[in-house]
Amino acid sequence: MGSRRDCTWILGLPDFRVTLIEREGETAQSRLRVHVARRRRSACSGCGRRTSRVRSTRERTWDDLPWAAHPVTVVYQQRRLRCRRCGIRTERIEFADAKARVTRRLRQQIGLDCQSMPTSHAAVRHHVSWGKARRAEAAFLAAWDEARPQRQPRHLGLDEIHRGKGQQFWTVLSDVVHGEVMGLRQDRTEAAATALLTEDLTGRQRAAVTAVCTDMHRPYLNAVGARLPQAEIVFDKFHVLQHASAALDEVRRQEFFRAGAVMRAHGRGKRWLLLRRWKTVRGSKRRELETLFAANRRLFKAYVLREQLDRLWMYTTRPGVLDFLLGWLRALRWQRLPEMERLGDFLFRHIEGIAAYCDHPVRFGVVESLNTTIKAVLRRARGMRDEPMLLLKLKWATAHPIRSSRDLARFLNLQPLYSNR
Ligand SMILES: [Zn+2]
Repeated sequence: MGSRRDCTWILGLPDFRVTLIEREGETAQSRLRVHVARRRRSACSGCGRRTSRVRSTRERTWDDLPWAAHPVTVVYQQRRLRCRRCGIRTERIEFADAKARVTRRLRQQIGLDCQSMPTSHAAVRHHVSWGKARRAEAAFLAAWDEARPQRQPRHLGLDEIHRGKGQQFWTVLSDVVHGEVMGLRQDRTEAAATALLTEDLTGRQRAAVTAVCTDMHRPYLNAVGARLPQAEIVFDKFHVLQHASAALDEVRRQEFFRAGAVMRAHGRGKRWLLLRRWKTVRGSKRRELETLFAANRRLFKAYVLREQLDRLWMYTTRPGVLDFLLGWLRALRWQRLPEMERLGDFLFRHIEGIAAYCDHPVRFGVVESLNTTIKAVLRRARGMRDEPMLLLKLKWATAHPIRSSRDLARFLNLQPLYSNR
């Protein structure tokens, strides 16, 4: 082993020097216990004042980055100090969080790894227990979340996410300008939405909101109306179009039961094809649809009417939207398509939230991709009971703060590493 000076240099913890290195075994992978001592007077963990009045010491250990294949434990006699201002306090440890069992630089590595692999894999990779890895990850994410600037988005999203078994839901609050999750609550009640809008947003953030994108779920509308009176509701395009697809599906079902052998032969197994948008259907599938439409005019009419609804979001003025919908309803007359008429009534009742898009062009694509990311994280984290942790993971996944090798380096080499926290 090199000189202690070399070891101090390799360890690279400012203010600390290596006094002794023990091996826990003789193999190429056995653990090293690196004993360190402080070079200067220690600082009080309460006020940061330096003092040399030591009351007692106690041995503490932290897991650290490995030396080649050897896992490393840093050993230090932590002091309890008599501080003039705070009384008896432990000394501040610059290289680790308070009460943590790993150094801050190892915490960064574990926390990063946990964002792309299961916690159990990260734990094995870094020679720590599962619990240590999980706590390191939580501290890593919390530190990241605290340090980033707070945004004031103009447009918010309020959405329900299905949790799986039974009728269980999460309500998710998101920033649909930047595509980031902001808050999470269980259930999809008015109380959950109200809590999100009051507890997870500051007064400044609330004041900056001009529009909230949501579905037509009544409790959400009530909560937004009560808590963000100046914000307008914009109905999520995909939710509206889902209703249109449901109406089209109903037409298909009825036609299928009413019609004779020809329709049955053509219509069997076409449900998913029929529900797809025309622009996404290609080649032979298009021809299949065309044959189907040739066999049944009513189905064709319903399909065209659904396709036309896309144009509800192409107008730039509210009267334009209203005119279009009135025209759409006129085209429906004499068609004997009661399902589509019901859809028309529904759209008419919600026209305000649809037309609000003219003044508040919410990015529906962002809303949609947020939902996809959230579902992927939930699926990977199935069974996760820890709600704050789940929220942090969602924030990380949707904000994806690492987009380049430079970002990655920033997370691994924390600057400043020895902050005052
Ligand atoms: Zn103090």
